[in-house]
Amino acid sequence: MNSRRDFLQKITGGLVLMNMPFNGSAQSELSNESPYDGPILRLAIMGLGSYGKRVADALQACKMAKLTGFISGSPSKMKDWQAKFNVPEANCYNYENFDRIIDNPEIDAVYVITPNALHHDQVIRVAKAGKHVICEKPMAINAQEGKEMIDACNKANVKLLVGYRMHFEANTLELVGMRNEGKFGKVMYFQGLCGFKIGDPKQWRLNKALAGGGAMMDIGIYAINGARYMVGEEPVWVTAQETKTNFEKFKEGVDETIQFQMGFPSGAVASCLSSYNIQNLDRFFITGEKGFGELLPATGYGPIEGRTNFGKLNNPHQVHQTTQMEEMAGIILNGKQPLIPVDGYEGLKDLKIIDAIFLAAKTGKKVNL
Ligand code: NAD
Repeated sequence: MNSRRDFLQKITGGLVLMNMPFNGSAQSELSNESPYDGPILRLAIMGLGSYGKRVADALQACKMAKLTGFISGSPSKMKDWQAKFNVPEANCYNYENFDRIIDNPEIDAVYVITPNALHHDQVIRVAKAGKHVICEKPMAINAQEGKEMIDACNKANVKLLVGYRMHFEANTLELVGMRNEGKFGKVMYFQGLCGFKIGDPKQWRLNKALAGGGAMMDIGIYAINGARYMVGEEPVWVTAQETKTNFEKFKEGVDETIQFQMGFPSGAVASCLSSYNIQNLDRFFITGEKGFGELLPATGYGPIEGRTNFGKLNNPHQVHQTTQMEEMAGIILNGKQPLIPVDGYEGLKDLKIIDAIFLAAKTGKKVNL
């Protein structure tokens, strides 16, 4: 038996393995598979934008999760999506009346995929309507909001998950597994580079009121989150330096480029870059006393390419959002435990670090966490 195969089966409960041709055996496993007749997570998408569309498409291939509702401010778009995804009128809401999902037995959970600053109030309203919530990253625009969302979900006894799709990506999980097994030895250093050149200056991502910041909230968060799961520790300090070249496009409170560093209890350090002005910035690198691992690209929609000093990672590409939704259905319906958490507390950890990075960039001082 292949030990990596055993490992991935353990951490994904067979989902990734099912479509994973180690030694070309996936086909026989697929054909042996019996039809799924277990519980299904019935999901409404809130926010019919570009990522909402990607999730809706990906859900079509899920067994344990099904798209059954929409929440949107655009009646015409909702009509189009209803026709495309076969969603009945009775399961469609707008931003004023969606509290009424409380009375809808065909919706178990809502996936909030709206601009960042709206997540806080929307998640709390969904929780109060008694439905589980999946919220896109960043979970909110600061740690205080994140705490309030967790409290609201706990009070309503519903689950809160954050849309961290990389936590289910096979090459990522293999590297984390190798780190856990000690293959790289004592971890010394992580590098996370995350950025792209942002276009339209009028989009909500460049509006502090809707985005809560700039590149850090949107793409830099992947480097923070990645540093935590690749190193396998929580940082105890951060330092940060901000660079701005275009004050018209990146207004007050909207960060263009931030370099930041994090220190971990073991002595490992991370050096990261978050940017809205550097194209093709998508690399994770971890090195320890015995070896290294690299993901390049590390967080895009894939395929994610990985290599280590022991060789290339060969897990085939899966649509990230399909794997994510299948796994999240397992977490919500069956209490499945992912290798890398995706709950509200995980989202809150990143928000606390973002708060600290903004403070460190502003003051020029090291901020202890
Ligand atoms: P988008 O602009 O394409 O879509 C946003 C949607 O929200 C639109 O349908 C818009 O009509 C709606 N909306 C509701 N209220 C609005 C308001 N007041 N102002 C503006 N729009 C409003 O954005 P997107 O790329 O789909 O991003 C949405 C969320 O998803 C963000 O939090 C983003 O960080 C996250 N996201 C995550 C990933 C990922 O890989 N996990 C990728 C892209 C986006």
